[in-house]
Amino acid sequence: MIHTDTNRNTFAITTPLYYVNGLPHIGSGYTTIAADAIARFERLRGKSVLLITGTDEHGQKIQRTAQSKGLEPQEHCDKIVVEFDTLWQKLNIQYDRFSRTTSPHHEAIVKEFFGRVWERGDIYLGQQKGWYCVSCEEFKEQRELLEEKYCPIHSNMEAEWRDEQNYFFRLSKYQNQLEEFYQQQPDFIQPESRRNEVLSFVHQGLQDFSISRVNLDWGFPVPGAPQHTIYVWFDALLGYVTALLEPDSEPTLENALKKWWPINLHLIGKDILRFHAVYWPAMLMSAYLPIPDRVFGHGFLTKDGQKMGKSLGNTLDPVELVNRYGADAVRYYFLKEIEFGRDGDFNKTRFIDTVNADLAKSLGNLLNRTLGMAKKYCQARVPNIIASDIPVEHPLKFISLELGERVARAYQSLAFSEACREVLALVRASNKFIDEQAPWSLYKEGKQQAVEEVLYSILESVRLAAYLLSSVIPNISTDIYQQLGFTIDFNNQTMIETVAYDTHSIWGILPPNQKLNKPKPVFVPLEQE
Ligand SMILES: [Zn+2]
Repeated sequence: MIHTDTNRNTFAITTPLYYVNGLPHIGSGYTTIAADAIARFERLRGKSVLLITGTDEHGQKIQRTAQSKGLEPQEHCDKIVVEFDTLWQKLNIQYDRFSRTTSPHHEAIVKEFFGRVWERGDIYLGQQKGWYCVSCEEFKEQRELLEEKYCPIHSNMEAEWRDEQNYFFRLSKYQNQLEEFYQQQPDFIQPESRRNEVLSFVHQGLQDFSISRVNLDWGFPVPGAPQHTIYVWFDALLGYVTALLEPDSEPTLENALKKWWPINLHLIGKDILRFHAVYWPAMLMSAYLPIPDRVFGHGFLTKDGQKMGKSLGNTLDPVELVNRYGADAVRYYFLKEIEFGRDGDFNKTRFIDTVNADLAKSLGNLLNRTLGMAKKYCQARVPNIIASDIPVEHPLKFISLELGERVARAYQSLAFSEACREVLALVRASNKFIDEQAPWSLYKEGKQQAVEEVLYSILESVRLAAYLLSSVIPNISTDIYQQLGFTIDFNNQTMIETVAYDTHSIWGILPPNQKLNKPKPVFVPLEQE
């Protein structure tokens, strides 16, 4: 059960603010595709949605990367941000806010928040000694290091010894409050396996963490102590708050939190779980602010069963993938073939097989054949059938009875794969039904009423399938709707209220006698190489 206030008609969802150290990789694409699918689904349900993405641009790693390219850090960030935005356009991501941590508004929010936590007495000056991984922007325990010097995540990065004065956040003070919170809000961390990881980490005892760095210019100065720079994670998490500001409003916490807070869902990869599920709620408790509803940490992606990495030379370039195969195919594969929350694999053969089988063969062909027959037998109109006259035992009507509700539950629990499978079951049953009923024979036998009933029920099932998949494959769903004679474009948000979930997720709404359009393939099969 999700403890969301169901009376709230707003839904705010975030991707991580991606670190601009390098070009966007497929992992960032994966999270963002999932976030976009949920945002689209909630819009269909009639919610007012805010999809937030953006970039985390401060820290030592960025400064060094920029230096190595002979650029100012800001110049470097500006270049990378364009690459992210380009990828989001290609993947058909409809974000509402793009939050950059280098924006002047963000600095004001960070300062005010820091002030609140300071007032609370939760920040103090201390000595930080330890091993620091610049790639993680995180201190490591001695025992975690590989061969006593390498970061366990970045096995080619030597951790650097630091012995410096830092400001610390009193995380340890929130140990009990956090543990109580996890009990009271058991859905805060999902899936279950991630929740257990966090509970066990917190149970081992929390240590205060340093929230400032010295000898680093690229970041915001600590208020009142400009020789210190605010730690990149403390700054980045607040980017979610800054994103909530209306573009022309004054950058204050009050303004930012007015409409959308608390955020309903943070979607993240499991590598940054601790920051979102432990540090972030503690920071918010310290500032007396409500905590977001849910943090969902999805799994890692592999390619052909292998871990991906630049040094391994087997990365998967998301831009190349989407340029070659189109947004819908890429979105569909990642959401259908990988159980969200678990690790998943990309394999080109499987990718092509999956999208060909489901989108071209099952769904596309079904529409194409049926429209062809409707043209021949029904003057290219939706057969004149009253759906409510079709008995409930009708195989397609029967499958569809509670399909909309089942699919909605799947989307709400981020079980994209299950949502797709449910819909595909209807599509397969429809293919079977048309073969069994053989409307071409019925037509020859002069059974016009039977022909019309068969064709109506199949066209309506294709419509329902397209509708329920429209959050995943909006372009294909739009094509299907338009060939069925609707003028809907699922990418046009101003049209969405005319296809509300309450109505369109129900079987039997295809208007009799509606003029059908020319059949053309909605998905051209991809060639196996
Ligand atoms: Zn590292």
